[in-house]
Amino acid sequence: MSLMDDLLEGKIKLYEIERHVPVDEAVRIRREFIERVSGARLEHVSHYTIDMDRASRRNIENPIGAVQIPLGVAGPLRVRGEYADGEYYVPLATSEGALVASVNRGCSVITGAGGASVRITGDSMTRAPVIRTGSAAEALNLREWIQENIDAIREEAESTTRHGKLIKIDPIIVAGPYVYPRFVYTTGDSMGMNMVTIATEKALELLTEETGAHVIALSGNLCTDKKPASINLVEGRGKSISAEVTVPGEMVERVLKTTPEAVVEVNTAKNLLGSALAGSMGFNAHYANIIGAIFLATGQDEAHIVEGSLGVTVAEEKNGDLYFSVNLPDVPLATVGGGTGLETASECLDIMGVRGSGGVHEFAEIVGGAVLAGELSLMGALAAGHLARAHSELGRG
Ligand code: NAP
Repeated sequence: MSLMDDLLEGKIKLYEIERHVPVDEAVRIRREFIERVSGARLEHVSHYTIDMDRASRRNIENPIGAVQIPLGVAGPLRVRGEYADGEYYVPLATSEGALVASVNRGCSVITGAGGASVRITGDSMTRAPVIRTGSAAEALNLREWIQENIDAIREEAESTTRHGKLIKIDPIIVAGPYVYPRFVYTTGDSMGMNMVTIATEKALELLTEETGAHVIALSGNLCTDKKPASINLVEGRGKSISAEVTVPGEMVERVLKTTPEAVVEVNTAKNLLGSALAGSMGFNAHYANIIGAIFLATGQDEAHIVEGSLGVTVAEEKNGDLYFSVNLPDVPLATVGGGTGLETASECLDIMGVRGSGGVHEFAEIVGGAVLAGELSLMGALAAGHLARAHSELGRG
């Protein structure tokens, strides 16, 4: 009997193949099994160069191959940050034609205008469990216990990690008998979700031993992980980033083919008013496009793209020039851990010189600059269209 026969007869499970053969062989057998049962030909997913043995221990279960996403590059992008200072090329993985070209145009405007000024305005990875007590009164007592015992809680949490530091537990929301303490950490160069989950779990052992409260779930959704949430918009999560540029009016007209006033009007009408009318949390044109393409290229957790879509774009006309800024409160980022060690992701981090320990703040500032480039380019294009239509209507008028 072959392993394939065993699989087809249900004698072994898909995840058990590695118990009998090396990983690469297991990948091939699993893929052929899927071809047999689905009728699909999996020629292209079978071609990959990443170390699947390593990936199967850290990044993927039941591997059958790898997908390929076209990878482009935008730049040079001049970034003037506290950590990033220089010209960068930004790797973007996408199947959306025109995205790289648009970001590239934004890069050339920003670089021509002297560069993007970028700052990290917040650095915090969060985990907020939900804990049940007997009543709202007991819940308030638990909140007080947490506030009074923060040092002991911190000691427990930080005993699990070298890089994770518990900054605060705030807010602590009470809803009837339920308590939601939001544990806020810095996590070095890692994105930190595993790190803060392990640390918070350890801290909760102390809490339950001392108070008798019952942990309903390690994540009570007040974190808020991988969902759009106003708490992240207000409090920040991951890296909070602000990037700005002042583009001379002459350059707005020559390169973007529009005017500062037209960009300001589109920003007000679309990103601010339109988003408010829609109840959107993304007061911007398309942060997720740039965040998504960078995340896929560099091995970030792709579900966090939803968090990176939050934020507000500011546009003002100043003495004939265009002041333009993007403000991203919630960008979970890593240059260590998670998917960043996959070979293609490491190479993409190398393009920006930010791979590994010590790189994440420089990376965050480059990401801020790249989002600024993409946002400026699209807003410029929308404003140019709006201006062109206004002219043609007036011309016909
Ligand atoms: P991780 O790879 O689990 O942790 C990072 C590791 O790198 C830690 O062992 C850390 O050691 C070590 N490290 C070495 N040098 C470091 C440095 N300079 N800065 C920071 N850490 C350094 O990654 P993670 O970022 O905590 O978690 C990312 C993963 O979590 C992703 O794969 C993501 O998909 C997944 N995830 C998990 C959850 C969850 O609820 N568990 C939710 C969403 C995503 P020390 O800890 O000793 O410092």
